[in-house]
Amino acid sequence: MPFSDFHGNADIVHRLREMLSRERFPHAVVLAGAQGSGKYTLALMLAQALNCLNPPKSDELPDFCGQCANCTRIAQAADLNARFAEAVEARENLRETDKKETRIFVQTHPDVLIVPPDPPQMMIKVDQVRRVIETIYYRPAEGRERIYIFTDSAFMKEAANSLLKVLEEPPEFATIFLLTENPGELLPTIRSRSMAFTLCALSPEEIERDLAQQHPAWKPSQRALVARLSEGAVGKARSFDLASYSAARDHALAILHSALRGGEHGELFKITESYRPGAEGREKTEALIRTLYSLLRDLVFIESGVPELIRNSDISAELQRLSESADFEWILVASDRLAEVERGMRRNLLRSLSLDAFAAALEK
Ligand SMILES: [Zn+2]
Repeated sequence: MPFSDFHGNADIVHRLREMLSRERFPHAVVLAGAQGSGKYTLALMLAQALNCLNPPKSDELPDFCGQCANCTRIAQAADLNARFAEAVEARENLRETDKKETRIFVQTHPDVLIVPPDPPQMMIKVDQVRRVIETIYYRPAEGRERIYIFTDSAFMKEAANSLLKVLEEPPEFATIFLLTENPGELLPTIRSRSMAFTLCALSPEEIERDLAQQHPAWKPSQRALVARLSEGAVGKARSFDLASYSAARDHALAILHSALRGGEHGELFKITESYRPGAEGREKTEALIRTLYSLLRDLVFIESGVPELIRNSDISAELQRLSESADFEWILVASDRLAEVERGMRRNLLRSLSLDAFAAALEK
């Protein structure tokens, strides 16, 4: 997968590749941008370009072959969610005493360490940065450059301070990527030692064009829906699970209908019952919450007299009907309750949710 496969933000990719060609690649790079804007994909591509065994050129700039041992092993980390889930599961299977001392990493190449936020707090912890410090001063074993990719900027305080020490004296053969949706979360002293790039969102039209190639089986109305829901994030659009979204949306609509129009609760209980605790249930519940937010936002657009901005454009008639029973105040209360449910989940990921209580609290 060479750089030409990276969609959008051509100017930033060009500048980064120019720095590769001058062999003056920065030691610390902040890649900022919304979820799915390609931060991780780009960081992995650069990790490949920095370590490719047969680096080709394209447009007279360094590229990577995608075929050599280094490229292919680094590419095995491309599905971050899957590798992360494997690492978490491996830790779950450890003895209780070892579990506490084990931190989550993703590593498919000896010189490329990927540091995701560590559950359950989903923060980067000091032990994770310690692993970076322990390895970063050794020359790379099989590549030319040691690469560290922090996939999130939610650092615990001590972890951020430790990282700062590394950035004050980085070895010449290492590069640290800091990925963030919000650069303000990083210590100013970390930011000032890094070179920052912000990946911009793509327009819905650009994403629709990309989806026409990626998902030719999708109908134009489905591509338009996904493009709007992805908010300019091409990675999010490409990997969008349309079937799950539709299923979650059916449930979210049923909850809103029941809350706004009252009536039969049997249907509602049948739905909430299907949201079970555990990892799978959590994912499903998160999808439901995201979908509820997206529908509530659309109701706000309709209430505000700008229905052309709604994201769920394929069901605009149904949303119009729903909006007749909703008003701003109700939407605000509903959003607050939803935020409460979300906070509860973050505090304790395993706790099953009382969606019934949530739905009941929304009732007019
Ligand atoms: Zn290669």
